[in-house]
Amino acid sequence: MAKMLISDTKELLRQIALVDNRKVMPETIEAWHNIIGGIPFDIATQALKMAQQDSTIRYLEPRNIISWSKEAAFRLDRDNPKVEAPLDSSPQPRCREHNELILSCGPCCRLLHDYEQNNGQTGIDRFAKAEIYEVSH
Ligand SMILES: [Zn+2]
Repeated sequence: MAKMLISDTKELLRQIALVDNRKVMPETIEAWHNIIGGIPFDIATQALKMAQQDSTIRYLEPRNIISWSKEAAFRLDRDNPKVEAPLDSSPQPRCREHNELILSCGPCCRLLHDYEQNNGQTGIDRFAKAEIYEVSH
């Protein structure tokens, strides 16, 4: 997931200011961005909502977003479960070990899933071609 742009941080601060009427200067945006800019925007937005509902927070600070971001990421994940999407190659490849269509093959889906857990999408196509797909001639 992408990190936030400064315009995303600005939008978050706009939403915060709507609630507490704080004054948002360009320096404010920069300072916040330095702290929370590494969080993906959708997670930060969710974290903001949760922080705003947290009655123990009286004046929202960047660290409140940080501390809610983990829970926010968890919640987003649960609400939008990832679909096991086919790797975008058609027709769907078969695996060489079991000669099944990749998405119908439990063990091979598992391998891809494990790879993605450990490495993300980066190189997953190369991994699949090297380790799983039937070699095409
Ligand atoms: Zn297989």
